[in-house]
Amino acid sequence: MNIDTSLSAALAARRTNSKTSDLRRTVLVTGGAGFLGSQLCDRHVALGDEVICVDNLETGRLQNIAHLLDRPNFRFVRHDVVDAFDVDEPIHLIYNLACPASPEKYQIDPIRTFKTSVYGAMNLLELARQKEAQILQASTSEIYGDPLVSPQPESYWGNVNSFGPRSCYDEGKRAAETLFHDFRERHGVRTRIARIFNTYGPRMDPRDGRVVSNFVTQALRGDDITIYGDGQQTRSFCYVDDLLDGLMALMASPADIRTPVNIGNPGEFTMRELADIVLRKTRSVSRMVFKPLPKDDPRQRRPDIRLARELLDWSPKIALNDGLDPTIAYFAAELRSNGVRVAAGA
Ligand code: NAD
Ligand code: UDP
Repeated sequence: MNIDTSLSAALAARRTNSKTSDLRRTVLVTGGAGFLGSQLCDRHVALGDEVICVDNLETGRLQNIAHLLDRPNFRFVRHDVVDAFDVDEPIHLIYNLACPASPEKYQIDPIRTFKTSVYGAMNLLELARQKEAQILQASTSEIYGDPLVSPQPESYWGNVNSFGPRSCYDEGKRAAETLFHDFRERHGVRTRIARIFNTYGPRMDPRDGRVVSNFVTQALRGDDITIYGDGQQTRSFCYVDDLLDGLMALMASPADIRTPVNIGNPGEFTMRELADIVLRKTRSVSRMVFKPLPKDDPRQRRPDIRLARELLDWSPKIALNDGLDPTIAYFAAELRSNGVRVAAGA
């Protein structure tokens, strides 16, 4: 199994083992054992790149990368991005995805979440500078906070509370964007910033706490569907395959892209509508129950993706109605493998 405890050891091993390493790109993915990161690792491994997955397994799971551990061009390094990297090997591309993404998870230790965003960005940018690597930041629609305009273009500065339960994530990601801006301006680091809107699909952790994983697992179990507030708040859901196409197109573009780029699906749904679709698809007997709306929960979210269309010729292809089918199948398999009885019809 290709598991190392230090990044330097991982890279030294790669240098020894791979005679063709000079011909290949080395791609470092932080947060590579998470939902999105592990699928990004899959794609770069399949392309023949040398992939180094860096993760502290805070919200990620080894099972997401278990199938990659014996691949010669994949290596897992357990490391916390809050701590600096000391590497003397070439690295060509860096995707910085390390950060808990679910509000339930990132609020467990908000100071740590802030450090992960800010110190993590700083450490990865220093590494990119040293290596002359191109670096992509997984930013977020949370940059827009509780937006007062809809859809949200990249030029909108947002409506963010700096002093609330979501601030550790929102302001941490905003500060990371600032660092990306300044490392580009001051040090010429080749940066890319993707503002990711709610993304769902296989490999989400069933206990992650986000709305798609909650509603689908509740429906499959026959438990109550927990709607926060009146369920009239909206989100735009992007299927993971579309999102990864967008991230990789942004990384690969030969254009000098200096601004953040929204990557998301403009289809907008209320949480009540999402619950209805999930209940219909799973043919579940669950009923909806209404719980208090968490503080500062944004009322609406919808990406303006004109920039991604123009610069990357990218737009999402998979509608929520279609993306939910493989997602439900995945969660049903996850629950069954954990001994949970799944409601008939799923
Ligand atoms: P995830 O929680 O599944 O993955 C995050 C990964 O980062 C996990 O594997 C976790 O263990 C790792 N991690 C967390 N803190 C770390 C640290 N200090 N050092 C090293 N590793 C650390 O979440 P995801 O949905 O895959 O999100 C990936 C990235 O995309 C995150 O940066 C998130 O903010 C961003 N993003 C995701 C969405 C979405 O809807 N999925 C939306 C906007 C932005
Ligand atoms: N939500 C809900 N029930 C749940 C989980 C979430 O109604 O069990 C709502 C939440 O209040 C928010 C929306 O669903 O309005 C999306 O929440 P999520 O945690 O997925 O991500 P967010 O976009 O808020 O970061």
